[in-house]
Amino acid sequence: MPTSYQAPMRKDQTDTRTRSQSSETNTKSELATVGHILKGKGRDVFAIRPQETLKNAVDALKDKGIGALMVTDANGALCGILSERDIVRKLADTPGQTLPQLVGDVMTQNVETCTPEEPLVSVLKRMTAGRFRHMPVVSDTGLLGMVTIGDVINFRLTELEHEALQLKQLIVG
Ligand code: AMP
Repeated sequence: MPTSYQAPMRKDQTDTRTRSQSSETNTKSELATVGHILKGKGRDVFAIRPQETLKNAVDALKDKGIGALMVTDANGALCGILSERDIVRKLADTPGQTLPQLVGDVMTQNVETCTPEEPLVSVLKRMTAGRFRHMPVVSDTGLLGMVTIGDVINFRLTELEHEALQLKQLIVG
């Protein structure tokens, strides 16, 4: 039996659209994970003990050229994070008496961590929502390193440049 012609409907168009055309699946950064950054920057873990002084902490921050230290206990387990912002706040609150104070009294105890498998977009969202710039990376075996908001943004910028170049090459031929 011949069937009568039916004009295509919007639903049909949605069904035939390829995955690469949808905005959700065409975002490369969703595929990029914390592990990609660690591969590039290495797995250095700069840590300090809670019993150490802020003087030791500022020396370490200066020597390593970093903005935050992970705080670990005698077993190497993460028990806090100390960023330069914590030290600056303390300097304002206790002028002239800050450097002898203990890391454990000034650090942030509830540390948000990520795993190497976590997508960078998710880490970026959590950092923005929590208003912090450092995220320790952990796995079953322990601490693997630290990613910063700068690492994530640099990685994404490089990706965007690469994508733009690929698009240009597609257009120009
Ligand atoms: P930051 O912007 O990373 O220098 O830190 C701003 C504040 O957030 C400081 O009080 C830090 O101790 C705290 N902080 C930094 N990273 C984290 C994290 N991953 N989880 C919880 N707090 C954090």
